[in-house]
Amino acid sequence: MGSEKTIVLITGANRGIGYETAKNLLLHSAKYHVLLGCRSLSRGASTASDIQSTPGLLGTVTPLQLDVTSDDSIKSASEFIKTTYGHLDILVLNAGIFGLPPGTVDPSSLRSNFTTILSTNVISALVLTETLLPLLSHSRNLSPPHTPRLIFVSSSVGSLTQAADPESKYHQPGASEYRASKAALNMLMVQYWVRLKGEGFLVHGADPGLVATDFLNREQVKKRGAVEEWVGGERIASVVRGDRDADVGRVCGEYGVSP
Ligand code: NDP
Repeated sequence: MGSEKTIVLITGANRGIGYETAKNLLLHSAKYHVLLGCRSLSRGASTASDIQSTPGLLGTVTPLQLDVTSDDSIKSASEFIKTTYGHLDILVLNAGIFGLPPGTVDPSSLRSNFTTILSTNVISALVLTETLLPLLSHSRNLSPPHTPRLIFVSSSVGSLTQAADPESKYHQPGASEYRASKAALNMLMVQYWVRLKGEGFLVHGADPGLVATDFLNREQVKKRGAVEEWVGGERIASVVRGDRDADVGRVCGEYGVSP
């Protein structure tokens, strides 16, 4: 791998917003080498070859087995990156789950559902970031303006400010567990920003807006004004490219809210 490439790891990139983010970056510039984080390596391999066949592709892509809830998988992925590239430039923490549909009331389901959501959406982001920080610290992009980046794919629904504001469209009940997980993720993002800004890191929260993926019922969210998957990918890719650097340390996106 040529040292001139910017190495970007995107988690949960075999479909949805992660996939579209990868494709957008690779169509945009030859400078990106995307590591396509996928739970299943076989699906990752077929997704990577699907991306490679896209007309006009400029960048390069490698599938990487990565289940963000598995410490062994995180360790193997980290060792692969270290051995193959020696460093990492940009980490996009995109993998996420919504959890059970609302209405589940029995205590053990509530507990296991919330535990799984927190593990996937928050704890995995912490473990993965901590594991990969040494590789990000060796980023070739350490000199501004090309600093290493940590991007937490989050949501305005996790904003405490918005949730508490009676004038906000987010001032409504529902999806409490998912929203609490994104609130925690936002705090994690701010904590990393405070901790790492002195070391030349850029840390972002990025809200793709309401996007019609498998995450929520596609047809229902389309009726609520959801954008197409590629638009969600474009929004996250713009943060990767540095177009939203004015919003560093905040949850940037359509709504530009603070955590
Ligand atoms: P999708 O359900 O379409 O895709 C989710 C991706 O995450 C899949 O690739 C999935 O892999 C992966 N994933 C889930 N669990 C794990 C795991 N344990 N390890 C590795 N990968 C995992 O969702 P979206 O693309 O819509 O969402 C992506 C992110 O964007 C999420 O963090 C979500 O919270 C956020 N977001 C989405 C919005 C929307 O409207 N869609 C709005 C705001 C934020 P697999 O195929 O193996 O299941």
